[in-house]
Amino acid sequence: MSSSRTIATRQRLSQVRYEIRGELARRARDMEAQGRRLIKLNIGNPGAFGFRAPEHLQQAIAEHVAESDPYCHQQGLPELREVIAARHAARGARGVTPAHVFMGNGVSELIDMSLRALLNPGDEVLLPSPDYPLWSAATILNDGVPVYYDCRPENGFQPDPEQVESLITPRTRALVLINPNNPSGAVYSRETLQRLADIAERHRLLLMVDEIYDEIVYDDAQYVPLAPLAGDAPCLTFGGLSKVHRACGYRAGWAVLSGDPIRSGDYHHALDLLGALRLCANVPAQWAALAALTGPDTISALTAPGGRLYEARRAVIEACEASSRLHLHAPQGALYAFPGIDTTGFAEFDDHRFALDLLTHEGVLIVPGTSFNVPYRNHFRVTLLPQPEQIREVFARIETALARCERQ
Ligand code: PLP
Repeated sequence: MSSSRTIATRQRLSQVRYEIRGELARRARDMEAQGRRLIKLNIGNPGAFGFRAPEHLQQAIAEHVAESDPYCHQQGLPELREVIAARHAARGARGVTPAHVFMGNGVSELIDMSLRALLNPGDEVLLPSPDYPLWSAATILNDGVPVYYDCRPENGFQPDPEQVESLITPRTRALVLINPNNPSGAVYSRETLQRLADIAERHRLLLMVDEIYDEIVYDDAQYVPLAPLAGDAPCLTFGGLSKVHRACGYRAGWAVLSGDPIRSGDYHHALDLLGALRLCANVPAQWAALAALTGPDTISALTAPGGRLYEARRAVIEACEASSRLHLHAPQGALYAFPGIDTTGFAEFDDHRFALDLLTHEGVLIVPGTSFNVPYRNHFRVTLLPQPEQIREVFARIETALARCERQ
């Protein structure tokens, strides 16, 4: 028996980071407890910035309270899966029926389940750098090995299909895409997506595409769903209520397995089994999802010129254009900007130290770029959820902090 008095935790956890809610966020909470007023731009949480879930989602929950008592099928409410399957089939995804839809308590749960259903120890997963760090965490916790393909700032955060292919080994099992991308805001072209789908097909990789921001695009950027380009190849597409429908507290997401069902083999059964082990996803939120997917469009007004997200994004772009130190690849989609800092003239620059300085002295919480698994230390992420005036205030404070860091 171990003589240690403390509980030993899973060793792999030491490799896992989720800094969006990590040390800086804890420090921010302590500061708030001591009465400091902060502007927190670390989490893409629409409800925290005054957005409400659309009325018809709220009503759907109220109307179905009585029907929400029992567990539902482990894959989700049949009528909802019907609608999701039809929507994906209408986009051109092959082989999708309600049996190929899996509802989860947010996309987060489904990311974990889908990797758990796939990976054996040492299997490799191709992930974008920058990534949404849950993808790295879930890969590691499910005994996999993240292998990053570059989406570099100088290439507009676009992936390079040749590099992606060069990273494939006999252990590679899946190619993960996040489109539109968190944190970079990049939106991938049809041509790039087709090339990546072809690579996955050549090497028999499972395509996993996180499209939780599918309807959040700006100006002439076009979101192109990946599944239709993959044809008969197995492709798992993720979507949900948290962002497009501003209902992240509801915890509702879906994963849709497309392609020739014969080629998915036991993977379908594995997802069903893992779903069954956690019984089912939150039922009231599934009624809201049904209302969301059969109701009116409520996001375009926010992403079009004059809309709140559009104007917040414009405020970030203008602040970066006016800055001598910041550069930005303007986000084409999603809810974030990922500016870079020109660090010439700084003795040394570390994104974490900068974020800590900004929090301590200016009361602004951002997420350092390295939290998104990039090899460079001069980026940071902010959300586009605050009001434009607040964004302008934040960037004024960022300039003050940068000037201070440069003098140090
Ligand atoms: N995938 C991406 C790219 C995200 O940005 C997020 C949340 O920020 C999630 C998944 C998790 O979403 P959910 O609230 O559905 O769990």
